[in-house]
Amino acid sequence: MSQPPGSDDPFVAMVSARADVDLKLSDFHPRSMLLAQEHEIRRPRFPVIDYHNHLDAQDPLEVLKIMDECGIERVVNITMHTGDAALAMLHKFHSVAHKRFATYGWMDWSDVASPGFFQRTVERLERLVERGACGVKIWKDLGTKVQDANGNLLRIDDERLDPLYERAAALNVPIMYHIADPDAFFHPIDATNERYEELAAHPEWSYYGSFYPKQELLAQRDRVIARHPKTTFVGAHVAEHPEDLAYVSGLLDRHANLHVDISARCAELGRQPYTAREFFLKYADRILFGTDLIPEITMYRLHYRFLETRDEYFEYPSHASRQGRWNIYGLFLPDEVLRKVYRENALRLLPRP
Ligand SMILES: [Zn+2]
Repeated sequence: MSQPPGSDDPFVAMVSARADVDLKLSDFHPRSMLLAQEHEIRRPRFPVIDYHNHLDAQDPLEVLKIMDECGIERVVNITMHTGDAALAMLHKFHSVAHKRFATYGWMDWSDVASPGFFQRTVERLERLVERGACGVKIWKDLGTKVQDANGNLLRIDDERLDPLYERAAALNVPIMYHIADPDAFFHPIDATNERYEELAAHPEWSYYGSFYPKQELLAQRDRVIARHPKTTFVGAHVAEHPEDLAYVSGLLDRHANLHVDISARCAELGRQPYTAREFFLKYADRILFGTDLIPEITMYRLHYRFLETRDEYFEYPSHASRQGRWNIYGLFLPDEVLRKVYRENALRLLPRP
């Protein structure tokens, strides 16, 4: 214990005392002593479509067991393969249960520097959709790493990609964007970073020092969404900005062609329950349930607890390294909102079987 110099008053000394400890952060696992209500929601109040997951490594039959146990009607597998491997992945799931799985393709940049690339992306989209894919995801390598034939960083709003978006509109399949990450990922990995442990576990997730700041990446994406009003876009992870739901609300107000998914962002939404609840009520038609986590029974049930109950201060669903040292609060969403977020909004974006 250390005291500011001159504070010999016992009360001043007490309120000024600070700890100086050498407990390792990774050994610190405090348990909440709060006695709060706990509701385990074993099955969702309405059938669920998990619109954002990655199942490539999973056995379809094992996933189906979990889905049945957790009231999941369908999972959208966003394959991380491209080319023939992507089609094989699609077949792996659709051949087992075509009504229970859907597949998103993954943007293939492997030959971005070769002549004809931008036309080929359109043909690849056509081929994927012909085989039953329900969308294509564009990931954060665009805007940070992908370089064109001249060695220039490809901008997200590069007009050479316009034919892809136009074709997606004609084929009636959405484009999903995951082109940035939480604000903390753009800051140094230091003692002030609220996701310090997560970034320490995944230093490659840091954008600190990236060519474009986060605002610029989002602005480029937003220009594409504005330029292609007939194309449906899905902004993964609450359009990358759950820390600022006022901004996301503005985006949804301006762009009727935009939906957002909540995957991997319960931590962000659940630490601002008043604002998040209003957001869900206002944009109930535009929000998609998604998880972006390995299918597990407890993982799904935590999502239901978050969306359905008014439980307070509990752990959010997360990958092993966690997202930040805080807990979340349930949103107790009304039935008509749950029905849309869990299933109906996704159903509108999926092709009719
Ligand atoms: Zn994902």
